[in-house]
Amino acid sequence: MLAAQPTSASLYDRVRRVIPPIEWPAFSGDIDAILKLKRERNAVILAHNYQTPEIFHCVADIVGDSLALARKAMAVDADVIVLAGVHFMAETAKLLNPGKTVLIPDLGAGCSLADSITAEDVRLMRERHPGVPIVTYVNTSAAVKAESDICCTSGNALAVVESLGVPRVIMLPDEYLARNIAAQTKVEIIAWKGHCEVHERFTPSDIRELREANPGVTVLAHPECPPEVIAEADFAGSTAAMSDYVGRHKPARVVLMTECSMSDNVAVEHPDVDFVRPCNLCPHMKRITLANIRDALEHDRHAVTIDPEVADRARRAVERMLAI
Ligand code: SF4
Repeated sequence: MLAAQPTSASLYDRVRRVIPPIEWPAFSGDIDAILKLKRERNAVILAHNYQTPEIFHCVADIVGDSLALARKAMAVDADVIVLAGVHFMAETAKLLNPGKTVLIPDLGAGCSLADSITAEDVRLMRERHPGVPIVTYVNTSAAVKAESDICCTSGNALAVVESLGVPRVIMLPDEYLARNIAAQTKVEIIAWKGHCEVHERFTPSDIRELREANPGVTVLAHPECPPEVIAEADFAGSTAAMSDYVGRHKPARVVLMTECSMSDNVAVEHPDVDFVRPCNLCPHMKRITLANIRDALEHDRHAVTIDPEVADRARRAVERMLAI
């Protein structure tokens, strides 16, 4: 007998804690349409941890941080991949699946880090620091990755930097991630001036005020936050590491200093943990909606293309990272 296909009605229980019943009818029609379109088109949806719960928990097939999405994208057995995330993530999925159709539902879903640096900037850095390897955060365009020696994510940046066995590396483009990694290694790190517009807004006094208002709260922060914020937190790690931390330590009360949807998505998995929710929205991530995912699957919008020569060089930098 065939297993019953999920429907919006069977999925609501999962998100009941974070989506009130009054809001659910606004989502259920699109969810049923997307589930049907996925079957008809042999499509999968990859969703980043910052996607809203109705996307993350109800239509996504693969969820995670940038590293998990890049890894799992390599093994996807589907004709079409819809990337519920931002443009550089869709490019990474395309790099690793050149023969598949990769769709990004909104071409305006960018990233302040990816926009902070161009391929020409990377070439100039290489000229200025001859022989110093260039480690590039995955939050960059394919053209920037193509100029790099190896990629990294916030989850593996330290391992990537130390794997090179050199005294100095250039790490682009996130200044705070570079400084936070520099604090953990003897390798000298030359940074760029890019910042995540979501994480750069957190301050140490935010954490102090939170602790005052919520005695005993555990504070987890993303390494794209400024180093002074990381210094005040109890733990710093990628979105995957923060989620693991909550699962392993089960703090009675926790705050995640990161994008807003992350707490909602982790809260669904841990009903016994109390989430305090000061957070910052990523306007780029929030451009992805159920309506435009449905539209993407109905009309093949918007297919990601990358110049094949650029793609070959960018893929090498991503594959070097995945080999670590
Ligand atoms: S949260 Fe920051 S790093 Fe992530 S997509 Fe938004 S702007 Fe870029």
